[in-house]
Amino acid sequence: MQSAQDDRPPRVALLSAVLDLGYLAPAFREACPGIELRLGAELGALEEIDAAVCWFPPPGLLARMPKLKLVQSLAAGIDHLLADPQLPRGRPLCRIVDPGMAAGMTAYVSWAVVQHHRGMRAYVAGSAAGRWQEQEVVSPRRHRVGIAGLGTLGLACAEALAAIGYPVRGWSRSAKQALPAGVAGFHGEAQLDQFLSGCDTLVCLLPLTPQTQGFLDAALFAKLPRGAHLINVGRGDHLVEADLLAAFASGRLAAATLDAFSQEPLPPDHPFWGDPRILVTPHIATRTDHGVIAQQTLANLALLQKGERPLNLVDLERGY
Ligand code: NAP
Repeated sequence: MQSAQDDRPPRVALLSAVLDLGYLAPAFREACPGIELRLGAELGALEEIDAAVCWFPPPGLLARMPKLKLVQSLAAGIDHLLADPQLPRGRPLCRIVDPGMAAGMTAYVSWAVVQHHRGMRAYVAGSAAGRWQEQEVVSPRRHRVGIAGLGTLGLACAEALAAIGYPVRGWSRSAKQALPAGVAGFHGEAQLDQFLSGCDTLVCLLPLTPQTQGFLDAALFAKLPRGAHLINVGRGDHLVEADLLAAFASGRLAAATLDAFSQEPLPPDHPFWGDPRILVTPHIATRTDHGVIAQQTLANLALLQKGERPLNLVDLERGY
């Protein structure tokens, strides 16, 4: 791909304060052999950079790139970019939407629902101990699953769980038309309590915004059926961690499967480790394919250079 203005290959920076993004370089070079990649401390003249591919970029750095045409999140979420107080809000900011990512999330969430509902952890322990012992076999029809966030990922999970036979309900900001068979829709604050009252398992697949930060708190847990299971595959800051432990102590919640945490990696002395009611996974529910990140970034640059709307442009007012 060439830059429209001066017929040169694009200059793309890979920016993260928390990860070495060098692993993305082969995918970008394969998608565009002439590409000029700027990485780590080798960013060169900041005014030359056309696009920045980001995961928690160093705060203030994007604001020092005056000719930046595109800010590209390498993930589905953009909360890591909104954490930069100097984020240049006038520039197009896009997220990745990848069908492979939805498939990975669907597999994880389906596993998380089944492992709790069918008591699979007891079988893992029984298998290790040589113990033949049945858990109660409860039909999926008797375990209601609610998904908070009925977007790209939530909708894919809802459809798959309904296909296995779970009664599924979803909650979103706006009303949804034509939901898959077996999926009931709820939306907005006014329908939240009704939604929560029918969630034997609640899955959080919301984006992290000022409205959804701390969504999973004591007040919400009090509205779930007693003994519910929580799956958090959104962001760590959706959950008020102390309220989760209190909800276990009171019996309000029975179990949690958690993939995202306020502090990652989860510190070694964190109370979630070793708690038999909590299953911790290290933010692996799904991943974006490297090739898809490269292709969507380059396609977005090409669209912007033609004066067209890029793919998966984020509404910064809405925050997701
Ligand atoms: P998306 O397509 O933007 O969907 C977001 C959904 O949340 C939409 O249904 C939206 O409602 C709803 N929503 C947003 N704010 C709301 C509010 N205040 N009240 C009620 N509903 C609200 O996002 P996605 O691609 O499905 O991704 C969702 C999140 O998953 C990401 O932001 C990220 O945090 C997380 N994620 C985690 C992993 C992992 O490995 N753990 C991987 C990828 C993504 P409308 O439909 O009405 O707009």
